[in-house]
Amino acid sequence: MPRLVLLGKQGAGKGTQAGRLADHFGVVHLSTGEIFRAQASLGTAFGLEAKRYMDSGDLVPDEIVVGVIDECLAPGGPLEDGFVLDGFPRTLYQAQELDRVLDGRPLDLAINLDVPREIVLDRLAGRRVCDNCQRVYHVNLPPSNDWICDTCGGPVVQRDDDTEEAIDRRLELYEQETVPIIEYYRAKGMLAEVDGVGEGDKVFDRLVNAVNEHASANDSV
Ligand code: AMP
Repeated sequence: MPRLVLLGKQGAGKGTQAGRLADHFGVVHLSTGEIFRAQASLGTAFGLEAKRYMDSGDLVPDEIVVGVIDECLAPGGPLEDGFVLDGFPRTLYQAQELDRVLDGRPLDLAINLDVPREIVLDRLAGRRVCDNCQRVYHVNLPPSNDWICDTCGGPVVQRDDDTEEAIDRRLELYEQETVPIIEYYRAKGMLAEVDGVGEGDKVFDRLVNAVNEHASANDSV
C-alpha cells in the first residue's frame, strides 16, 4: 500500500485529488487543514488556536502540526497500511520530521500537482466548499439547489481563509516555505511532477499513472 505525499499550491486541487487517490489505493487520506478545520468547528482550544493562523493565511507553527502527524502516524495504523498526505509537509522542517516519523518506512512518492498561479487565484477566489463533506464547488459551477451540497445536503460556504489577503499570504508562504520541499524530494529520487490543469478525471488519471509508473520502476506498491 502506497505512502504518498501530494504537494501543490493552494487551489491546485490537492484535497479533491488526494481523496480520490486514497480511495483508489485503499489507503487513508490525511489532510492537516481538514483536521484543523474540524477541530475549530468543534471549538476545541487546539482548533481555535489553529484557526487564528489559518484565517490570516499564516502557517500553523511546526511543533503543533508535527504533533498532529505524530499522532496520525503512530505505529500500527496508516504508517504500515499506507496513506495520502495532503497539506503536509509544508516546510522543510516538517519534511525532515516526516522522515523521522516514518522511521525507516520511506515514502513511495511525493507528487507535485502543478497549476499556474493565475489559475489557482481564480479557483480560490470563486471556491465554495461544503461545510459537511468538504466537496468543492466554484461560483461558476454551483450545486444545483441554492448552495445546498449535491452530495450530502450540507451548506456550501466560502472558507474563512479564502479572502483576498489570506490568499496572497498563503501563496507567498507556499513559494517561501513549501517550494524548497519539491527539491528535497527530487534529490531523494522520490518526486513526480503532474500537470494539474484540466478536467478533474484527466488529472486523476495522470496522478494514478505517476504512482504506478514510479512503483513499477521501483518494483513496489
Ligand atoms: P489547507 O486545507 O491544506 O489549505 O490548509 C488550510 C490552512 O491550515 C493553511 O493555510 C494553514 O494555516 C494550516 N495548515 C494546514 N496544514 C499545515 C501545515 N502542514 N503546516 C502549517 N500550517 C498548516
